[in-house]
Amino acid sequence: MSARSEKSLEWVDELLAIGRAGLLRSMPVVDGMPGRMIRVNGVDAINFSGNNYLDMAGNKSVMAAMSEAALKYGNGATASRLIAGNTEAHRELEEYIAVWKGAEKAVVFGSGYQANMGILTALTNDEDLILSDELNHASIIDGCRLSRAKTRIYQHLDVDAAKKILEKAKYRRIFVVTESVFSMDGDFAPLVELGKLCEEFGAFLMVDEAHGAGVKGPEGQGLAAELNVCPEIQMGTLGKALGVAGAYVAGSEPLVKLIINKARSFIYTTAQPPPILSAAMEAIRIVASDKGCQLRQKLNDNVLLLNKLIRPLVGTLAAPSHIVPIHIGDSMDTMRISQSCLKKGVFVQGIRYPSVPEGSARLRLTLMSSHTPDDIRKAANILLEEAG
Ligand SMILES: *Cc1c(COP(=O)(O)O)cnc(C)c1O
Repeated sequence: MSARSEKSLEWVDELLAIGRAGLLRSMPVVDGMPGRMIRVNGVDAINFSGNNYLDMAGNKSVMAAMSEAALKYGNGATASRLIAGNTEAHRELEEYIAVWKGAEKAVVFGSGYQANMGILTALTNDEDLILSDELNHASIIDGCRLSRAKTRIYQHLDVDAAKKILEKAKYRRIFVVTESVFSMDGDFAPLVELGKLCEEFGAFLMVDEAHGAGVKGPEGQGLAAELNVCPEIQMGTLGKALGVAGAYVAGSEPLVKLIINKARSFIYTTAQPPPILSAAMEAIRIVASDKGCQLRQKLNDNVLLLNKLIRPLVGTLAAPSHIVPIHIGDSMDTMRISQSCLKKGVFVQGIRYPSVPEGSARLRLTLMSSHTPDDIRKAANILLEEAG
């Protein structure tokens, strides 16, 4: 039988329709050590497309921690956490995260996607209400869908809109869920105001620090820590600024115990490989230290420099961040500009629907602590030429 049967034609029309809309996706092939430079589809470029904000993915001591752990614990955890896969590396990292986050307890998940699905489904049922920012990540949206809780979307960052919904809400429990630093827009959730709102209405605040962890807060604990807000449910990931893989939720002991007992994306999956956990722990150790402060300082210098140079494209932002969207609108234009930038040695990935709302395709620039001022000047010049 040939590998490509009649039945494979089934999918062709749908693919063609995706292509006609300018939304066909493919995976660029990346080569070499992660860092400020990237080789993508054979072209060398300065990398402005990863989430490796502090360059931990290529950090030597994090790599050493991973190799040492592999020699000590082996490659895989061999079973799920509740069966036989709960190793000393898991316990150590979770205790470390709880202390770092100032929480009673923490538990790790295989990924941020799994964490958001697991947390939301474990804590809610159809008697509950989830209030979700309209630009929350797909993993939060999917968690809401799977939870069977009533979900209401409030306008992006709009505390008053959330309040209007809360004033009329009668539910067993209410959750307000938001990212801290928004993944595709780089703006910040009004966590202080959301915290007060939740206090006023007895609601639970859940904050996803996927893009805040490592980068914000006095020891890289995230934006909530920077603003002195203490959400009941604090989720963050280990694969972005921390450069490894996985995610965590930190909170009270009963909260974390309930998640361990009920989150199906935690229970019914093989535990993460111990070397991943030991590496993540070393990455947290670095971002929580003086070295981490220097990295955050460098990243921040780069944020300010880039924003100054590309002001004609993005205007003056009240609070610039390490994620910089350059709005183009049309999907095909966005991808074409991304390609021209790559040819000139700057990798800025285009982001299209459904990752962002229809008609709001953009280039999404991400900064790293290890970018040099020259890297940033080059990127700014090319962007002004190509997208200006
Ligand atoms: C990336 C991301 C996730 C998912 O985390 P992974 O570890 O990559 O699965 C969740 N929430 C937000 C806001 C993200 O940007």
